[in-house]
Amino acid sequence: MSETELVLRSTRVVTPEGTRAASVTVQDGKIVAVLPHDAAVPAGARVEDFGDDVLLPGLVDTHVHVNDPGRTEWEGFWTATRAAAAGGITTLVDMPLNSLPPTTNTANLDIKREVARSKAHIDVGFWGGAIPGNVKDLRPLHEAGVFGFKCFLSPSGVDEFPQVDQEQLAAALGEIAAFDGLLIVHAEDPGHLDAAPEAHGPKYADFLASRPRVSENDAIAGLIDLARKLDARVHVLHLSSAEALPLIAAARADGVKITVETCPHFLTLTAEEVPDGATEFKCCPPIREAGNQDALWQGLADGTIDCIVSDHSPSTTDLKTPDFGTAWGGISSLQLGLPAIWTAARERGHGLEDVVRWMSAAPARLVGLGAKGAIAPGRDADFAVLAPEETFTVDPADLQHRNKITAYAGKTLHGVVRSTWLRGRKINDGTALAEPTGELLERPRA
Ligand SMILES: [Zn+2]
Repeated sequence: MSETELVLRSTRVVTPEGTRAASVTVQDGKIVAVLPHDAAVPAGARVEDFGDDVLLPGLVDTHVHVNDPGRTEWEGFWTATRAAAAGGITTLVDMPLNSLPPTTNTANLDIKREVARSKAHIDVGFWGGAIPGNVKDLRPLHEAGVFGFKCFLSPSGVDEFPQVDQEQLAAALGEIAAFDGLLIVHAEDPGHLDAAPEAHGPKYADFLASRPRVSENDAIAGLIDLARKLDARVHVLHLSSAEALPLIAAARADGVKITVETCPHFLTLTAEEVPDGATEFKCCPPIREAGNQDALWQGLADGTIDCIVSDHSPSTTDLKTPDFGTAWGGISSLQLGLPAIWTAARERGHGLEDVVRWMSAAPARLVGLGAKGAIAPGRDADFAVLAPEETFTVDPADLQHRNKITAYAGKTLHGVVRSTWLRGRKINDGTALAEPTGELLERPRA
């Protein structure tokens, strides 16, 4: 019988019931109890007292492009999971594209797992991919433990991961619904993108005009219709257009099984502030105007938007040319998501409980990880320790990302991550990172 090995104490512990002074006891990597702050320490247990720094559940980021193997010069499991740990994230789920091979069959999933195993500083799970012609691979991937399947309705940016047309989408979703899987969708309508003026040159306004809101709105409307017809579970990735929120809210009220995420860049950066040629701000769908951002925050406040996840999608510097037409589309923010969101959230009157709901509890629920997402008995002892009142100025040199390109350079943010804990072990103390102890996660079986 093992004994309580660790007691984590703080005057501000964020639990599902609210924030309070508490002592959290840990045994064999699991939370045993959340006790009063002054509870007696069991004999032999080590105490870590964080004073007034806040103890949060480790964040769960279900939208990360690790790109490993194959494009490890863009990012890799070693660098991505170190950056995540430095940012208070203890679980990530890797997107099925931008690595070579993409995660579109079980042989490729095996390759990905083999590569990730020795490099994971945090827990890592995998999404599968739905592409033209791989319907037969979906069930085997599901049985092999992927958390769901990603597809694109418009070009993905890489040739080996083609988009699906409406017929292929229906075939994939029908198959996925048959085993009660989850389809996660990059929802931009290719017809509207084709009809829009082409992106070109250094002006952000020209890029923004090439990815109109209607493209997202109509793609989501179509997805809702299909999910309703097939009684299937769907999730809208990286929502940028707030105009789609009423559609999503109405569909959900009507029983359609749809969830939605948005990202730190849509909530903290605006089209108006992007300098000419600053393609570190380029992503698809795009960062939109300040008014749209206000409406996204409203969607979070009223519960229409479930999660905030990074969509960390890095590349090498040379691919970030100063032309918005040709530059790689993707924003790196794995290490900065928590302070970026906390800085904006506090200004809008939200508490850390809200941030934890959006960035830990809801993403954990999306992928069915019942052991993650809360400080509660029985959960994994995954934590972030945050000094929420402290500020820092983003210096790209401080990032653990492989490529230190960031749209947040020079911004002053609230919230310093003091340390990050995975299964009761400190994996990051703000300056140094421990050797990798992350595990590869599979979708929990019912
Ligand atoms: Zn993405």
